[in-house]
Amino acid sequence: MQWVNGSSSGAMALADRRPRSLLVKVEMNTMNAGVMGSRLRNRQLALNYIRQTGGCSRSDLMRELGLSRSGVNHLVSALIEEGIIEPQQEAQDSRGKRGRPSTFLNYRGSGGLVAGVDLGHGHVTVALATLSGEIRAEASESCDVDHDPEGAAQLARRLYDKLFAEVGASRVHHVVVGVPGPINERTGSLHAPTVLAGWINVRPLDLLERHFNVPVSLAHDATLGAYGEQLRGAGRGLQHVLYVKVSGGVGAAMIVNGQRFVGASGLAGEIGHTTIQGTSELCRCGNRGCLESIVSADTIRRQLGLSAGRDYDADTFDFREIKDVAGVRILSEAGWSLGRHLSDLCNCINPQVVVLGGSLGAHSDTFLRGVEQSISRFAQPGVVEDLEIVHSALGERSEIVGAVMLAVERAIPAISHE
Ligand SMILES: [Zn+2]
Repeated sequence: MQWVNGSSSGAMALADRRPRSLLVKVEMNTMNAGVMGSRLRNRQLALNYIRQTGGCSRSDLMRELGLSRSGVNHLVSALIEEGIIEPQQEAQDSRGKRGRPSTFLNYRGSGGLVAGVDLGHGHVTVALATLSGEIRAEASESCDVDHDPEGAAQLARRLYDKLFAEVGASRVHHVVVGVPGPINERTGSLHAPTVLAGWINVRPLDLLERHFNVPVSLAHDATLGAYGEQLRGAGRGLQHVLYVKVSGGVGAAMIVNGQRFVGASGLAGEIGHTTIQGTSELCRCGNRGCLESIVSADTIRRQLGLSAGRDYDADTFDFREIKDVAGVRILSEAGWSLGRHLSDLCNCINPQVVVLGGSLGAHSDTFLRGVEQSISRFAQPGVVEDLEIVHSALGERSEIVGAVMLAVERAIPAISHE
């Protein structure tokens, strides 16, 4: 399988980050050149690249698409004429040398916006963004998503309408919704109803399409977090990223060879309900000893409250404020337990970076150090050598940023046909 190709020599160390190639480049190179050379395909590849890089030159496009100068000029002229991209002259090149000014191509889109929706276990966040991925407006509200799918969908639509009016949007091309459970990206169906018990007999895609009269697609929330961090956060410029969301639930997602790896049906990375030997805590899925029952933000907050002799409010609690000896011990041990499990995953995919997101993972240094020590102890030495373990650079917004970026990607083929 050519797309499982971890770095084997340390040559891909973070210090050697190279500009990230087009996400679909590997796919392009391996497919039939005749098919991939079609005008429409090149147009989509060019738009994706210009969007993801935030602007590029004609030479960049020649290199990335493998096209001749005349081929790129033809493609670019059409996109400029249609108003989808715009050329921007630079007074002098970046090295300050005199000479012919370079022209950068910036994405303008065709006018409309895209939307991202992040359904957490206890909140709904909605964002509207331009076709270059710039978020124009965002809103979030608490909601019992686990037990009230209809209420969550209504709240998402209400926030969407509010933002739509706020930014004066004329059109939304696509909505991507992140779901905190094992969602099949192809069919839009949920698996394992024990995780989202309130969603039994609900087909999420049908539910959300009913509330949004534009194209909707679904993804597991952690895969969106990974995508957000890869394009705009701590995984920027990297090809192999392991993202772990530690919030109300625990989920992992992978970027392999620069691409989201979701498995056969979108379920890759569902580690929250993996049974950990030697533990017997009851999990909300009905099993005992699940990873999530040991290290989720809710579990750890309850344990911290127990040691402090008080109840912490989930909405206002901040893991960064825990400094007492017992609290530090609880956070450190939770990190160690998660790291033990992540060690196996690191051995499998040999990532360049492990990014911790979610309300616990994104904020607690003590928790992160526990993860780090555990991975150093249990993963293969060669795997650990160049590995960095970091908080998400987008804080708790990785999922919503990933949702709008995926919505842009999904919208571009349709726009290319317009
Ligand atoms: Zn479980």
